[in-house]
Amino acid sequence: MARYTGPVCRLCRREGIKLFLKGDRCFTEKCAIDRRGYAPGQHGQGRKKLSEYAIQLREKQKLRRIYGILERQFERYFEMAARKKGITGEALLQILESRLDNVVYRLGFGSSRNEARQIVRHGHIAVNGRKVDIPSYLVSPGDVISIRERSKELPKFKALAESLVDKGTPPWLELNASELSGRVLNLPTRDQIDVPVQEHMIVELYSR
Ligand code: SF4
Repeated sequence: MARYTGPVCRLCRREGIKLFLKGDRCFTEKCAIDRRGYAPGQHGQGRKKLSEYAIQLREKQKLRRIYGILERQFERYFEMAARKKGITGEALLQILESRLDNVVYRLGFGSSRNEARQIVRHGHIAVNGRKVDIPSYLVSPGDVISIRERSKELPKFKALAESLVDKGTPPWLELNASELSGRVLNLPTRDQIDVPVQEHMIVELYSR
């Protein structure tokens, strides 16, 4: 699956908020939002009032960028969400949260979703004991996500095993730091997903 490979801080500046795409750097004074908190480009500092459509579009782009999803894949997720019972916006967030790369990030195995995606792609992750190297794999309640036994021998994961602590694992996941594994307790509800988007605006955008 293709992914965005351009400069990621630019995406934060475009959306005007920290999207936390670079891991640890996002918490330092080097963060581009802290240094240049205006949109990139020639007209970045002189933007006009946004139309309703533009606001809806920005919410969609923000969500897409937080999870590192390209446009077509995002549309497919929206179609999946629209077919589900309940609130479409919440279902959309639930699907995005269920992606394996996101779960690996949420468990603290990677410092950003980008890094987590690379960990999955490089074959370091098992789901219920079987290797899964597809970042878009959707986990289900009861699934156990772990660093594979052979990967635990690598210096990177040895260091992780020594340093991994529960830094606010969301309540729908259960972290076993000593085993470098985690269990999906249930799929998250909206209040358990801490992404700063107004998902109803995305639903309105696609309903146009
Ligand atoms: Fe965004 Fe992180 Fe770059 Fe700051 S350092 S602009 S939060 S990606």
